[in-house]
Amino acid sequence: MYTIKPLKQAEIMAPLGVVQMLGDMSSLIVAPVFVWLIEGNDRKILVDAGIQEPVNGFVHNFPVLGGGEKGIREALASAGVKPEEIDALILTHLHFDHVAETELFDNARIYIQKREWKSAFNPPIHYRLVYDVEVIQKIEEMDVCLVNGDFKLDEGIELVFLPGHTQGLQGVKVEANGTYLLAGDHFYSFLNLNPPKEQFELEDARGNKIAIPPYPLPFMPPGLHVDLTEWFDSCFKALSVAKRKRILPGHDPSLIGKVFG
Ligand SMILES: [Zn+2]
Repeated sequence: MYTIKPLKQAEIMAPLGVVQMLGDMSSLIVAPVFVWLIEGNDRKILVDAGIQEPVNGFVHNFPVLGGGEKGIREALASAGVKPEEIDALILTHLHFDHVAETELFDNARIYIQKREWKSAFNPPIHYRLVYDVEVIQKIEEMDVCLVNGDFKLDEGIELVFLPGHTQGLQGVKVEANGTYLLAGDHFYSFLNLNPPKEQFELEDARGNKIAIPPYPLPFMPPGLHVDLTEWFDSCFKALSVAKRKRILPGHDPSLIGKVFG
C-alpha cells in the first residue's frame, strides 16, 4: 500500500555510550540522521524533520556533517519530492535532531504526542540540552495536531505511543507489503533491537568497526532515556505491532539507500 524510504539528511558523530547504555564513551561512531518518506494512497508523509546546519562543524557539541534546509531539500530531491508536497509530518519526538526544519513543511499537518509536547517545555534535567525550545515554539504557529496515545492517521498508517526514550515518543506503523514499525529513537540501531548473543563487530556510517560483547537481555537500552521500565514495556508493545525483522530503528547506517514496500 505504501513505500517507505529512509533518506539521509546528515551524519552525526556520538559516543557508543549514547547508543548502548553503559557503553564506552571514548569510542565514537558516525550515524545517519534520517527523514522518512512514506508514499502511497495519494499521500506524501514525512517522518521527522532533521537536524539544523552545524556551526563550526557542531550541533549541541556533536560533530555533524550536512543537515539544515539544504540537507532536507537534497534528501527529498533524491526521491523526487519537494517540501511543499508533504501533506503530513509526523514528529517521532522533539529532540533537536528530529525537528530542526519543521518550518519548511507549511502545507503539512504536524502530528506530535501531547505528552512529548508538554515535556519539551519542561524536560527532565538531563534532557534540557537536547530540546531546542525556540525551534519547538515556532511549531505552535503551524497546523499542529497534538495526539493522545495510539492514533489512526489514515488507512494503513497509525501512530504508536512508545514512551521511554522520551516521555512522549511515537513510532509509526505502516502497511507496506507487510506491517512495518518505524521506531524512531526508541531503537537507535539494530543493536538495540537484536542484541548480539556472541561477540559482534558494529560497523558505523563510515565503515569504522567497534567490538560489542555478547548481551544477555532481549533488548539493549540506549544510553539516553527517561524511564527504563517504560522503555522495556514499549519494546514489547513494538513487538505486538510488527515482527522484529520489520521494525526499523531510527539511526542505523545499514538503512541508507533502502526502500521498503
Ligand atoms: Zn532522541
